[in-house]
Amino acid sequence: MKVFVTGGAGYIGSVCVEELFAAGHEVVVWDNLSEGHKAAVHPRAVFLQGDLLDRDLLMRAAQEHRPEAVIHFAGKALVPESMRDPSVYYRVNVSGGLNLLDSMVATGCKKIIFSSTCATYGLPERVPMDESTPQKPINPYGHSKLMFEQILGWYAQIHGVIPTCLRYFNAAGASAERGEHHRVETHLIPNVLFTAMGQKPHVEVFGEQHATPDGTCIRDYIHVRDLASAHILALHREQPGCFNVGTGNGFSVRQVIDAARKITQKEIPMQGRPARPGDPPKLVAASQKLQRELGWKPVYSSLEQILGSAWAWHQAHPRGYDR
Ligand code: UDP
Repeated sequence: MKVFVTGGAGYIGSVCVEELFAAGHEVVVWDNLSEGHKAAVHPRAVFLQGDLLDRDLLMRAAQEHRPEAVIHFAGKALVPESMRDPSVYYRVNVSGGLNLLDSMVATGCKKIIFSSTCATYGLPERVPMDESTPQKPINPYGHSKLMFEQILGWYAQIHGVIPTCLRYFNAAGASAERGEHHRVETHLIPNVLFTAMGQKPHVEVFGEQHATPDGTCIRDYIHVRDLASAHILALHREQPGCFNVGTGNGFSVRQVIDAARKITQKEIPMQGRPARPGDPPKLVAASQKLQRELGWKPVYSSLEQILGSAWAWHQAHPRGYDR
């Protein structure tokens, strides 16, 4: 298939492009390089530097390349930033997404796989959470992603688009060649590893009085390669659907730091900080639906493999994609 990958220079997108080529697909990467890196773009991909908000350019790209499917990674994805600046979340995640969808409708492309998030659920009453958990986001990031899921539902009804919404839990880990490099790193695992490498004096632990056994937040960390494989499987779907992508195992911030100490053999000092606004205490996926309907299986997602692969990548790329 010819696949148009928005955000294909970003962390998850660039690893998914590797898997797309391994599965025999053709790839056009669309990325504005605001978070992505040119060096992360697979050398076999056609690369278009463009912004989702540039509707005309997007329309021309769709007309020129005529993809058979779209995988839509590009977007704003940080809870704390969305609590400070909601406007950019709605502009990029909703208006930008609409431009993409309209370019698909104009060129007759039906399939779209959308990077949604467990943040669309807000504070779940029960964990693990399955797809029937009520979607009541508690931050603009989650709300913007939910809005786009709903828009996809209407485009499915009205225009016959076939959306697959993949609700990611916490992506982490690296492939041999591609890993996580954000210009401002807010995520837990890279910050833990930067501390192990001596690039940071300590890990900040946001909130130690959450309603969890050790007081720190629990998340379901999923290896980026397992996340990528869910997209490859979703390409073959012929009907709309929403799926959680997680392992069903939750680890607290403290447990992640302890595991990283074992793997890196480094001390990794921590420092308590106030809880981040908009941070739910516990998010763990029930992903049986994905396993049942798409035959997906996580292969690399033990905490040891996640931390081990990320540690190997960061050590080999101490400045990420910067030279
Ligand atoms: N976290 C932390 N210190 C950090 C980064 C994150 O304690 O330096 C916590 C954060 O509050 C959350 C969890 O680790 O409870 C995972 O955060 P991350 O930003 O990696 O992903 P999120 O769940 O926000 O998408």
